[in-house]
Amino acid sequence: MYEVSKCAPQEALRDLDRAFKNFFEGRAAFPKFKKKGVHDSFRLTGTIKVFPKHVQLPRLGKVRVKEETTKFRGRILSATLSREADRWHVSLQVELEIPDPAPVEGDPIGVDVGLDHFAVLSTGEKIEAPRSLERNLKRLKKLSRQHSRKQKGSSNRKKSALRLARLHRRIKNQRRDFLHKLSTRLAKTKPVIVVEDLAVENMVKNGRLSRAIADAAWGEFRRMLEYKTRWYGSRLAVAPRFFPSSRRCSACGHVLSELRLSIRHWTCPECGACHDRDVNAAVNLLQWFNSA
Ligand SMILES: [Zn+2]
Repeated sequence: MYEVSKCAPQEALRDLDRAFKNFFEGRAAFPKFKKKGVHDSFRLTGTIKVFPKHVQLPRLGKVRVKEETTKFRGRILSATLSREADRWHVSLQVELEIPDPAPVEGDPIGVDVGLDHFAVLSTGEKIEAPRSLERNLKRLKKLSRQHSRKQKGSSNRKKSALRLARLHRRIKNQRRDFLHKLSTRLAKTKPVIVVEDLAVENMVKNGRLSRAIADAAWGEFRRMLEYKTRWYGSRLAVAPRFFPSSRRCSACGHVLSELRLSIRHWTCPECGACHDRDVNAAVNLLQWFNSA
């Protein structure tokens, strides 16, 4: 403990405290031990300075950084260092006054999480995740399989672990870039963004890797929308969990008792309207907001 900055254990205890508070107040599950090598990170407070090509950290001194830091603004509160594969990142928490944004003009929009597409808008627009991301997800499958066949403790396994970790990092970056662009576009151009209240924790548990990744992406997207709508003067509206956005006919309001996931198109038995499953759901979300 004495080899590292006193902040590292201190801040870890602070995190533990928050984890227990979240647990006892019913916001999170019981804290789990962190595993070495998985999401390695620590947080430092104290004198942190930023230079054009360096960051000065307590105990570690001046550390060269790859990215230019000239665009940096705000008062630094803490620095978090984290490792992704064979790279280290430093993120700085800053305090900064942001002037109240002017309200965004235009029409509200409903956004549904698609199964075939990343998201579908109530305007009918279908948004797909970038091809390169899809390709890398396929490569990930192959690489994971190869990795699992390597002998435990062998140098070949170590090498493949690094390859795998690098690919995970690339996928994460591609996904984040895509999510940032989309959430910024929506938050800047739509006064109200209506989404469904999905239990992301439950979805991630559902077995398949590709599904789990898509669900995690949706959770991240939600989180981005939450803060970006506040930054840019729009707002996020969340339809309640029991709202039947998929099963409701957006033309007449008839609600089907059931709609299987495999059904992509359906015709309303009440009014005869033909629906694309995801567009209909997005339109319903928008209608929910307009009537609420
Ligand atoms: Zn109908």
